[in-house]
Amino acid sequence: MPLTVIQIREQLTLNIDQINLRIQAAMTRSKQTESVQLVAVTKYTPLPVVQQLLELGDFALGENRPQQLVERKGQLPNAQWHLIGQLQSNKVRSVLPHVSMIHSVDSLKLLKRVVQFSRELECCPDLLLQVNIAEEQTKAGFRKEELIEVWDEICSLGTRQICGLMTMAPFTDDQHLIRATFQGLREVRDVLQPRSPDMHLEHLSMGMSNDFEIAIEEGATLIRIGSLLFKDCDQ
Ligand SMILES: *Cc1c(COP(=O)(O)O)cnc(C)c1O
Repeated sequence: MPLTVIQIREQLTLNIDQINLRIQAAMTRSKQTESVQLVAVTKYTPLPVVQQLLELGDFALGENRPQQLVERKGQLPNAQWHLIGQLQSNKVRSVLPHVSMIHSVDSLKLLKRVVQFSRELECCPDLLLQVNIAEEQTKAGFRKEELIEVWDEICSLGTRQICGLMTMAPFTDDQHLIRATFQGLREVRDVLQPRSPDMHLEHLSMGMSNDFEIAIEEGATLIRIGSLLFKDCDQ
């Protein structure tokens, strides 16, 4: 039997409370004083459940497919939408007016295009540069050395949209590897930031359902959570 609206809402409340407790505990352990924002990843979640979530709080919503994001923005226009998945060059124009943040700017070419269209369309979402810290074949993003190499060129674009970095840890049980990946992202930020005082790399978007606590311990300011947040909410 499908869940009633009340049951969905109760389950969501429970999930949110549990996640918030774990966020608080991780922040305490790490003496992290920055705030940590939870981005609710809605890519597998039916719209009515997303609507219930928004009744419970002012969550930013993350989608990984541009097309689904644009569709859902039409259905829930007041929410803040974040694109967290790969963006093809030919989708930049259509997605820009609908997003408040793009976590997944994964190449210089894409960045230039996003900056150019942002100026043309006069909509300037915040941008995070995605870094492939673990250098996995299957993942997108700048390699660490590559980003450090092209940083001056990035700064010379003169955009104020870039506000941090994003990464994804390898899909593994190896906690050390996961932690090393998140540390790696923070280190890249700490190399780039002093080179460009005009840039404000305040955000590190890292950590998902299985690894968000490690990410917070390593300095995450944005965590992207889907399955844990919507656990048991749509049967
Ligand atoms: C799906 C997705 C998430 C959320 O993953 P969960 O494990 O369900 O929390 C986070 N980031 C990106 C880029 C994703 O595609």
